[in-house]
Amino acid sequence: MAVDGFGRRVDYLRVSVTDRCNLRCVYCMPAEGVPWKTRSEILTFEEIERFTTAASAGGISKIRLTGGEPLVRAGIEDLVRRLRAVPGITSLAMTTNGTLLPRLAGDLVAAGLDGVNISLASLDPDVYSRVTRGGNVADVLAGIDAAFAAGLRPVKINVVVARSYEQDLVPFARLTMERPIHVRFIEYMPIGGEDDCGDIIEGSSAWTRADHVPSHEILAGLSARGAAAGFGALRPVDENEAPRGWGPASYYRFDRAVGTIGVISSLSHNFCDRCNRLRLTAEGKLRTCLFSDDEFDARHVLRHGTDEGLRSLIGAAVAAKPQWHNMRIGTLRRMSQIGG
Ligand code: SAM
Ligand code: SF4
Repeated sequence: MAVDGFGRRVDYLRVSVTDRCNLRCVYCMPAEGVPWKTRSEILTFEEIERFTTAASAGGISKIRLTGGEPLVRAGIEDLVRRLRAVPGITSLAMTTNGTLLPRLAGDLVAAGLDGVNISLASLDPDVYSRVTRGGNVADVLAGIDAAFAAGLRPVKINVVVARSYEQDLVPFARLTMERPIHVRFIEYMPIGGEDDCGDIIEGSSAWTRADHVPSHEILAGLSARGAAAGFGALRPVDENEAPRGWGPASYYRFDRAVGTIGVISSLSHNFCDRCNRLRLTAEGKLRTCLFSDDEFDARHVLRHGTDEGLRSLIGAAVAAKPQWHNMRIGTLRRMSQIGG
């Protein structure tokens, strides 16, 4: 079991498998994209498997594959199969934009993937296309259907909320009435963006302070409009009933719903005291916090060191986890480069 310097048990590793993506979400990437890493810079599946084995020995039991878009990495189901076989890994999930799930969901389940988080900024085709710069919402809806049909569980929907996107959140609440879907509204975070003086930070996304919608406002709006739409009252969900991987979200449910509504209040209420995770970037940098640019060079150890060296690097990263995030100054990397 790995415990950091502030008594937090660290058992969760997010692994970015690529910095590439087939979309260009305004909250994540610039319109022109970012310069892709070369193939030799990116960890191979063998390297990710070896790192995961060392991490498992160091107390990690939950893995989430992310990116960039994990499903654009060729042979991703092979990586899922390898990680499923690593002793001590009890949960293996993925965060994806969902557009390629119609093609891949069956193979991913066969390879051993448990659940998916699917990112979807709006159910309105025009808003979705604008926020993703060209995406087709029908592809994601087909991806959600494919995830359910293939047996992936839980299926969670991640909605990054920003004032300027003019999103209608009620249709998301309606999704929870029909299926055991867990919709999580995520406060738009300054991954890049402007600093406290209003200066744009290098590598910034389009974040501005005015775009931040606090989670209490999201919940108040949903509660009133959901009740008017006949969904019943929106009430907090007991932790025992929340979807697997409770994580940083607080969960609620409309009286007549099957699924839940979650809010992830990264800005208005930070959840650092519950942080249980490390992040491995696609090029093998181990990060102690989404918002800290302190990185440990795991790729160097993977290519030139021993398993013992890997285990001590992971132990050092756990010990170096900061008590709180420093979102005030953002991060120099974009979300797609870290693995959100
Ligand atoms: N491509 C996949 C996807 O979109 O789900 C996985 C990678 S994406 C970087 C991981 C998560 O980060 C997604 O849920 C996305 O919505 C979220 N994300 C990206 N930029 C964000 C930002 N500035 N604030 C909050 N969440 C963000
Ligand atoms: Fe791609 Fe995901 Fe970033 Fe959107 S949020 S650009 S889908 S990596």
